[in-house]
Order: sequence, then C-alpha cells, then structure tokens
Amino acid sequence: MTLSRAKIPALPSRLEGLAALAVNLAWSWHRQARALFRRIDEPLWRHSHHNPIVVLRDAAPERLEALAHDADFCSHYDEVMDWFSRERSTTSGWFREHYSEIGVDRPVAYFCAEFGLHASVPIYSGGLGVLAGDHCKSASDLAVPFVGVGLFYKKGYFDQRITPDGWQEDSDDEIDLDQTPLVPLLGPDDAPWVTVLNTFGRAVHIGAWTLTAGRAPLYLLDTDLDVNDEADRGLTSKLYSGGAEMRLRQEWILGTGGVRVLRALGINPAVWHANEGHAAFMMLERLRELVGSGTAMSDAINEVRRTSIFTTHTPVPAGHDAFDVGQVAECAGMAYLEDFGAAAERAVTLGVHPQHEARGFQMTVLAIRLAGHVNGVAKRHGIVSRQLWSDLWSERPIEQVPIGAVTNGVHLATWMANPIMRLLDYHLGDDWGFRLDDPEIWDAVLGLDARAVWFTHDELKRMLLRYLREEARRRWRDEWSEAAQVVASGTLLDPRVFTIGFARRFATYKRADLLFRDIERLRLIVTDTQRPVQLIIAGKAHPQDTPGKEILQTLYHYARDPMFEGRVAFLEDYDMHLAHLLVQGVDLWLNVPRVPFEASGTSGMKAALNGVPQLSTLDGWWEEGFNGKNGWAIPKAQPSEDADAADAEHLYQLLEKDVVPLWYDQDDQGIPRRWVQRMKESIRVAGRHFTARRMMQDYADRYYAPILRGDPFVDDPPLG
Ligand SMILES: *Cc1c(COP(=O)(O)O)cnc(C)c1O
Repeated sequence: MTLSRAKIPALPSRLEGLAALAVNLAWSWHRQARALFRRIDEPLWRHSHHNPIVVLRDAAPERLEALAHDADFCSHYDEVMDWFSRERSTTSGWFREHYSEIGVDRPVAYFCAEFGLHASVPIYSGGLGVLAGDHCKSASDLAVPFVGVGLFYKKGYFDQRITPDGWQEDSDDEIDLDQTPLVPLLGPDDAPWVTVLNTFGRAVHIGAWTLTAGRAPLYLLDTDLDVNDEADRGLTSKLYSGGAEMRLRQEWILGTGGVRVLRALGINPAVWHANEGHAAFMMLERLRELVGSGTAMSDAINEVRRTSIFTTHTPVPAGHDAFDVGQVAECAGMAYLEDFGAAAERAVTLGVHPQHEARGFQMTVLAIRLAGHVNGVAKRHGIVSRQLWSDLWSERPIEQVPIGAVTNGVHLATWMANPIMRLLDYHLGDDWGFRLDDPEIWDAVLGLDARAVWFTHDELKRMLLRYLREEARRRWRDEWSEAAQVVASGTLLDPRVFTIGFARRFATYKRADLLFRDIERLRLIVTDTQRPVQLIIAGKAHPQDTPGKEILQTLYHYARDPMFEGRVAFLEDYDMHLAHLLVQGVDLWLNVPRVPFEASGTSGMKAALNGVPQLSTLDGWWEEGFNGKNGWAIPKAQPSEDADAADAEHLYQLLEKDVVPLWYDQDDQGIPRRWVQRMKESIRVAGRHFTARRMMQDYADRYYAPILRGDPFVDDPPLG
C-alpha cells in the first residue's frame, strides 16, 4: 500500500500521528477524536464541514507548533492516539466473543453502488448509501471480518444549486482528491490498475482506492486511467447518471470488477453480500469462475446461493434495474460466456423472470436466483417483497416465499449529537457506550431530567439556526443576487418557534408537497400568532427527474413568499453534513411517503436518537417503530379513499389538534413536559431497536455466522 492522496503538510513531530488519524474515518465516530480536530481551529473545522485533512492543511503552522507545546492539548492527543492504536489493532469485539468458534481469516464482502460514510467523500445519493456506510462502521465496531466494495465516482453525485426562481441546477464538480482520505491501490509491478475485464468488446483496466473505516477497508473501483479507451474512462465518473447502457456498464464494473479486484488482492471472502440489485453481477462472476473451472452448473448455482446474501430495498417493480438481454450478453462478451460452456444461454437469462420476459434482464431477479439468503429492510418491506416476487416460487404459498427481513438501523456514534451523548454520560454513567445491548440503559433514558433534555435540545436547535445563517451569509456574499434568497434559506427563523424538519430525496413517492396541498390551511398553521410553526425543507431531485424538480420549485416559491412570513425555509445541497444538523436540531421530523413505497426510511431513526419525535405515515420502519408514545402516525388510508387527500387531512389535523398544542404546552420554566416525555421515548425506542449495531447483529446471527460456520444449506432455488 502506498501513501494516501491527502495533502497533509509536515506536522510537528509531537503531533505527527494526526496525519494517520485524519485518513481513517474512525475519527468521525469518535467524540474525542472529533473534538481534537475541532480544537485545532474551530472556524476552519466548521467551514470545511468537519474535514480534518483540510484543517491540518490550512491551519497556521504556528498554531500547530503552539499546540505541540500545549500540555492540555497534548494529553488529549495522547488519549486519542491510544484509542486509535487500540481501535486498529484489537481483535476483540462482539462478533469475536459471540462466535469464537469462527475463524476470521475469511471476510464478508459487502458490495454496494454507493457508500455514505462522511460528507467529505460524497459518493452517495441518499438513504441506500448512508445505510451502507453505517453498515461498514458497525462491522468495524463489532469486529466482523469485513471488506466493502464500491465504485469511486470522481464527480460524486451532484452539487445542488437553486436559481432565484427555484429551479434546481446540477453542477458536477470533481471531488478534490487531496481533501479525501482515499489511498490509491497499486496492482502488480506498481501498475495503476489492479485487474482488467472486458465490456462491449473492449478491455477495461480497473484501478482501486482504499477508504478505511476503522477496521473495515473499502475498495472503490475506478476506470479513469490513461490506459483505458477514452470512452471507458468516464464509466465510473458519476453516480446514477446516463442511460441504461451506462448503468449496465457501471454495474458490470462493480460486480464483475469487484470480484476480480478482491481476487487480485488475495482476499478470499466466505460470504458475499449484495446491497441492492446493482451489485448482482458479483454473483454471476462467481458462477462463471466455478463453471469455468469444471463445476457443473447446478452445483455451482448451489454454491453461489449458499454463500450469497441479497438485500433488496425497493418495494415497487419499476424501481428495479432492468436491461435488454442482448445488451447484457454484449456487455459480458463471448469470452465470458464461453466459460459457461453449454450453460451460456442459461447464464444470460438468469435475470429473466419466467412470467415477465418482457421486462428483460432484471438485476433483482438475477440476485434472487443466485442468493440463497434474501431480505427486505423492514418487517413490512419483507411482506411486500414476498408478494412482489412470489411468482418466482409459484408452488409456494406467499408466507413460505424465502424472503426475510432485517430492519435497518443507524450508526449511533455517527448520528447522535455530542450534547445528547454528554447528557447520557451524566445520567447513565460514562460507560453507557459499552452497554448498548443492555435494554436497561435504554429504559433508564425515561428517567432523564426533563429540564436537561429540553435545554440540550434547545442548544442543538440554536446550532442549526446558526449554521443556516452562516451558510446564507456565505452564499449572499458569493452566489446569490436577491434578498429573497436569503429569506428563503431560513434566516428569519426563530429558535423559540416550533420547527418541523423535512429532508430527503425529492422522489415523488416521498411527497414533499403533501403539507402544501391546502395552502391556506397551512398558512394559518404557520402564521398563527400565538403558536407559530416553522418548516425547514431540504433535498435533491434526481437530475433527470423533472416532476421532482417541479415539486422542489413549487416549495421554493413558498419559501420566498411573504405570505409565510419567512417561516418556511428551503436549504440547498442536502448532504450528510446538513442531515446531521437537521436531525439534531428541529423539533419534529416529518416523513410522509405514500404507503407502501418506503422500504424502510432511516432519517427518522437519526432524529429519534436525538430526541426528535417523528410524525409519519405507517410505512417502512415506522410501522414497527411507532408505539403511540414516541411520535405520531398518519393512519392508513382506506382503499376507497384518495390516499393523498386522506393523508393530508390527517396530517393537518394532527398538527392542529395534537402536535403544535403539545409543544406549546410549556410550564412556567418554559418546559413542555409532555413533549419532553415523547422526546425521551423516541431516544429509548431508537437506541434499543433501530441502531446499525442491532442491524449488524441480526445480519451476523441470521446470515453471516451460519455461512461462515459452513452450516448446511437446504433450500429450493426459484423456478425458471
Ligand atoms: C439518512 C439520510 C437519507 C435517508 O433518509 P430517508 O429517511 O430514508 O429518506 C438520505 N440522505 C441523507 C444525506 C441522509 O443522511
């Protein structure tokens, strides 16, 4: 392995360990490590959106020199470096203790098209990527033997700019590699590529970058190499861009290239996990390896099924990638198919559904055929997925369709705000972080002092509003031309007013505009003189999603419109950094997907961990997460009703009659006691049931450990 790309200048020798710390993302979920970087230069820390590489690069050398002689800083540094060396070297952890009989030389390989680990590596578009990032972090925390495989998108997803008229513009600046913790991986003889494959008749060389998340390495594949044909260099440049052929080739690189990169590195996974169908060619490649080396096709399929897990995330047929069968064959090429011998024809139709041939080659069908372990991402989504794919097992009743469910969770140490953690330190004892599996810890949250909870939240709310003003000030100076843009960005928001947050991708099923169905009714709620309400909205529409952009534009117009008195804000460029501030700083988290289109949803879990209750339709995780005390639920619309109209009516009523009055029901110390009760209940439920730690334990117990142990696997493959 060579040096990282990060541009870190020479540091005072007393502090030289900071360079290594800055390029392992473990710093991002360790409070003391974050605090250490923040201490170096707080404004720089804030302006860089918490990027330690930028802090080390841009901090004044005299400042670093002075810190090297500051006893207090040095002892803080020593503590963090102690933790860091233990973090990297330890072989202990939940998995090792629970499964001591399992050797750790063969890892779980986890493939995903996007990873959201930190805002400084923007190779994610939304929930899928952030979930994958949280999965890697908990694999590290729990000492699960693990490697991640993804693509490195030089231009990331896209940066969002909103014109004064509310139209989303998608700029695609290149990521500044020098500001990321990526380390280039060299191939044999220091070649800049690790492996080669063919697509559409051309050889494509594949380079890779390592991104380290604690003990878990991620390998991110990249085709932007001089040796490659010009047309192939851009294959991995942008996430989810281009037409079907581009998508097909990206997924080919991810799946096929990913397996070959691991082979070239001498990594020999025992478990192969595809997170969403994009990665399913990983299974076909392993089938090719087996058949090409003489295993009979049916035995090879059984072996791939035994060792593969597929997690599906999409509850609607149209959301699943599908390609033309001929195009898949062309992408794979003759040499690839020849390895299948007589089974070549079969290989290119493994993605074809016997009853729906017209849909072409579906990645989800391929994945269901080749993975013996399939799961949805919430209990409800498991049921929906069994219905959706039951005709692949036409002999079986729906309950026996072998698709399970592992409900998503979020990484606590990433998403819980420092002040909330300090609150728990004080009330639960400093060691609560080591007792996360103990239900008593979470029940004890209900005993938190109401006043402390309330004022901690108030501090976080003020941090959010301060951030909005700082961003607005910068954009007013650098980008914006109209004062109305400054108002639309939330600069008139008041910390003493009840504040609702809504932030997510502008996919139409998420219904960002539901609250705006009856403008006059909303205006009355928002501008009530006794009990006003504020609304903070953020999110990106996919660049090709014109209806999504139109909804965004409509909402932006309301943010500018004086009729809402500056109490509706739209924040540009929703990313993980902004997500943190929002889920920690608003009073209520709003989530209104059209049932049953939300497979899970995770932002509400992040909010709940910070004591922010959720108001949501009963979809995804909320159907199992809502207990009547930790937020509010919009009841399911009757089949005879117009779901949008019915859900909007319930939403307005809940706000008018329950939610807003409860928040304003404050005692003479200004504390809304009954609201605070809901805040505590939110933390209790999320901490106990909806963390990535619990999710990883479920994956380990149900899938990883049995496969690693070599438990016998008996299940009929699906038809066709
Ligand atoms: C958590 C997160 C999401 C996912 O939110 P949903 O509730 O699943 O819509 C999307 N984007 C970012 C930046 C996130 O942090």
